[in-house]
Amino acid sequence: MPEQSPFDLPEGDPFGPHTLPYGVFSTAGAPALRRLGVRYGRYVLDLSALPEPLRPAHAELLAAPTLNPLLAAGRPVWTEVRAAVRAALTDPAHRSAVAPLLHPLDDVTLHLPFDVADYVDFYASEHHATNVGKIFRPDGAALPPNWKHLPIGYHGRAGTVVVSGTPVVRPNGQRKAPADAAPTFGPSGRLDIEAEVGFVVGTPSTLHEPVALESFREHVFGVCLVNDWSARDIQAWEYVPLGPFLGKSFATSVSAWITPLDAFDDARTVPPARDFPLLPYLDDATAEPGGIDLRIEVRIKDETVSRPPFASMYWTAAQQLAHMTVNGASLRTGDLYASGTVSGPEPDQRGCLLELTEGKGPFLQDGDEVTLTAWAPGPDGARIGLGEVTGRILPAPAMPPAP
Ligand code: MN
Repeated sequence: MPEQSPFDLPEGDPFGPHTLPYGVFSTAGAPALRRLGVRYGRYVLDLSALPEPLRPAHAELLAAPTLNPLLAAGRPVWTEVRAAVRAALTDPAHRSAVAPLLHPLDDVTLHLPFDVADYVDFYASEHHATNVGKIFRPDGAALPPNWKHLPIGYHGRAGTVVVSGTPVVRPNGQRKAPADAAPTFGPSGRLDIEAEVGFVVGTPSTLHEPVALESFREHVFGVCLVNDWSARDIQAWEYVPLGPFLGKSFATSVSAWITPLDAFDDARTVPPARDFPLLPYLDDATAEPGGIDLRIEVRIKDETVSRPPFASMYWTAAQQLAHMTVNGASLRTGDLYASGTVSGPEPDQRGCLLELTEGKGPFLQDGDEVTLTAWAPGPDGARIGLGEVTGRILPAPAMPPAP
């Protein structure tokens, strides 16, 4: 049987001409040379090597070792480059010129695709917030009184955002169960996942100038999958009153591929009905639908444990961006903000083990590998795939000997 051409994708391939996500790769022959690539099926197109006349305007942005220059260039350039890449991959006239620039995905190393500026994590699933509230505060109201009036979030640690495939070392830390007399120190015994969707900021904003809901597409370049690893025992002891800290900052994994926002035009959905009127800067009643119909799958040790539906999120990415900047805080190119754990209404749609096991565990064991995948409906029945995010748990560093 002749080898299949990289241009002939299998029926239903989620990385077809409507997806075209961006990443950064290197090859075994030049491991130090990081290049921008676009995924097409099981191949990576080397954007740094596109010959005339396929090279889009602004080709200098594509010669960088990260996506940041392209992110900073703004939406008109994103649109132009995406159209040029699609033409290069789909016009049969270009096949002989493009074929040498396609590397099999299995032959390349994928890197963190952009320099992460600031990292914010939200808490936008009503189902997740309700389930977790009942576990952490069994005697109180599941949702805090602010929850339906503003998208709750916290500032995370940008420097420990890692690309899919990076091992995750179990963190050591302080923990104290309610029945314990005093805190102890040691490896987290309640290491968890959080299946989330991340949004990557391209165009920066100006200090003191809030970004309105309708300016979302001007600023946000694309979407990735996020696993917000969480040490529940460390988190439970430390989080009052200032929120998550060391229980989450040890690692946050992102997919190696950033899928442009344009790829989700056919997947827009109306978010759930609002239970309270929203303040004007968050009121999206008359805005274009801000939800995205992304179907996520969570696999642990190759077993599917959950299928969280992103369309069920109460707060949209546009509302989160508006809220993040309403106080005048500015955006930088490379800012990453994540949705918060995606959990749907059904028990098999929960996005973390804390919820899936109703607080009882088991949590992650050393050696466990966790993989998140997702797809959204595209035009004409096509699927828009997100790059997977995967990570394997390594044992905690050895404890210093007791004095
Ligand atoms: Mn989270």
